[in-house]
Amino acid sequence: MQKLDGREVSKALRESMKSETIRFHSHHGKFPGLAVVIVGDDPASHVYVSNKEKGCAEIGIKSFKYALPEKTTYEELATLIQKLNRDPEVHGILVQLPLPKHLPSEKITELIDANKDADGLTTTSMGLLWTGQQRVKPCTPHGVMKILEHYNISVTGKEAVVVGRSQIVGKPMAQLLLDAQATVTICHSKTRDLKEHTKRADIVVVAAGRPRLLGKEDFKKGAVVIDVGMHRLENGTPNGKLCGDVRFEELDGLASAATPVPGGVGPMTITMLLQNTIRLAELSVQKK
Ligand code: NAD
Repeated sequence: MQKLDGREVSKALRESMKSETIRFHSHHGKFPGLAVVIVGDDPASHVYVSNKEKGCAEIGIKSFKYALPEKTTYEELATLIQKLNRDPEVHGILVQLPLPKHLPSEKITELIDANKDADGLTTTSMGLLWTGQQRVKPCTPHGVMKILEHYNISVTGKEAVVVGRSQIVGKPMAQLLLDAQATVTICHSKTRDLKEHTKRADIVVVAAGRPRLLGKEDFKKGAVVIDVGMHRLENGTPNGKLCGDVRFEELDGLASAATPVPGGVGPMTITMLLQNTIRLAELSVQKK
């Protein structure tokens, strides 16, 4: 079984992005800019934001971090997003989720100008994705497609099953596979017989958010298995061992290729955010 190494794919993509940011700077006198807004003290969210800042620094994106206190009001956050929407140095905006409970995440995401929607998750960006006119693609599903591309795994005509129908992973994942000419089935928590679907698939993308849900009995021989799931188990290493939605160790001798957790889809998500920022920066100058 071939291990699909997201760290390797990510590294290769970041190398080519470095020359894209330098080229952008030499043509336009500035680097692509990404604003990241974080509200409150959630430690995991602060780690994600710091990884995004490091990624920006590595490839030549100017990052603007706005760390706001837990008690920030809707009006204060909305005013900041509107200011960022107008800022010519900022090409991409990301509001780190989850937000504190008193702030309505969906309503706040919708305030981001679709031309600066680095995550590709506003209603406008989603509508553009469904109609084939997208500026950028949602980061995690886009990362999955880049892994398949990197390892020359053809999607055309394949039976693809996506397990999960969330707005950020399952649904856009299905659309990207469809755009790549797969025959796509979406399964979810109410699917009657999950195994019946996964077992006949050439490509299975699992994003159910259920630790170690699927194993050897769920896939056909030669399947490509992509595990989006990410769970921190309490009884592991000091920081908690990571695992996915798939029992990866059971796939040897069965799957033709699979992503491990950690080291599979995870490293791709931030890389695709960086790529989206560069793309939005390029689109912003094309419009002028
Ligand atoms: P979610 O909870 O919003 O959605 C889960 C989906 O799975 C739902 O549509 C639900 O219907 C379906 N589901 C749940 N149990 C099921 C079952 N037993 N059988 C079939 N379908 C079932 O989760 P999400 O935001 O889409 O994230 C999914 C997983 O991916 C999580 O573990 C999350 O941490 C991980 N994730 C990883 C990354 C990354 O960068 N690697 C990014 C986003 C999400």
